[in-house]
Amino acid sequence: MDDVPYKPAICDSHMHLDILEQRHPAAIKRLVAARCLCISWAWGQQISNRDDLVAYLDWQAEKVRELRQKGLFCFYLTGVHPRNICPDLDPKILPQILLPRLDDPLCLGLGEIGLETGLGSEKNVLASQLDLAREVFNRNKVIGIHTPRMNKEAVARTLLDFLDRYVLDRKRVVIDHVTTRIAGEVLNRGYFAGVSLCPGKTSPIELLTLCRDQWESLGRILVNTDCGNEFFDDLLRLPASDLLPPQTLGRVSLGNALTFYGI
Ligand SMILES: [Zn+2]
Repeated sequence: MDDVPYKPAICDSHMHLDILEQRHPAAIKRLVAARCLCISWAWGQQISNRDDLVAYLDWQAEKVRELRQKGLFCFYLTGVHPRNICPDLDPKILPQILLPRLDDPLCLGLGEIGLETGLGSEKNVLASQLDLAREVFNRNKVIGIHTPRMNKEAVARTLLDFLDRYVLDRKRVVIDHVTTRIAGEVLNRGYFAGVSLCPGKTSPIELLTLCRDQWESLGRILVNTDCGNEFFDDLLRLPASDLLPPQTLGRVSLGNALTFYGI
């Protein structure tokens, strides 16, 4: 399908295809039918040591290749999610694990990386991945940052202050799972803001509020579902809902993602 011009109708800018395909195989057919461009971020399950992590990252990339053969237009981000940090992971070996993956044309960058609690080795693992920023940007790729559900505002602020220490091209970094409360700060600092439209994260009404409040930065808002263990069709239902004006919808559910990911 790489030789065929493909026109996506919508983009789920952050999801977990490997998990989704295992748990909800029928969802893949819906995504293909909806011409949904899918960006699958790295987050493994049951990772207890470094070998598990490396095997997961291989499998995640393989899944994306396999799903493209089935007609799904998809890419992936590679990296170590803060909840995938295992006791035998020495941050010094991360370049060795991650750099070869960044050369894969289907890999669009690093993610999801970030902080969950901000405690323990999370900052060291994040730091050694951010040390690869120049390698990422030189390849015209991007960085996807996770923010937690718990204690979101405090951890997000710690994270943003931490990111300030790095010379990052902020237009190539998306801070994800942003809510109405932290969107202003993320966008004011020049980053893209990812909004997870799904139960428990952001509701359609909250998305509308966020787009209205941040209309000056509308070109840097990316909607996603973060689906994996559960399938959420909130994004697929958005075009028929009349919630957002068509132009806004077109930007936050597709156009901005194409620009950000360079597709
Ligand atoms: Zn995720």
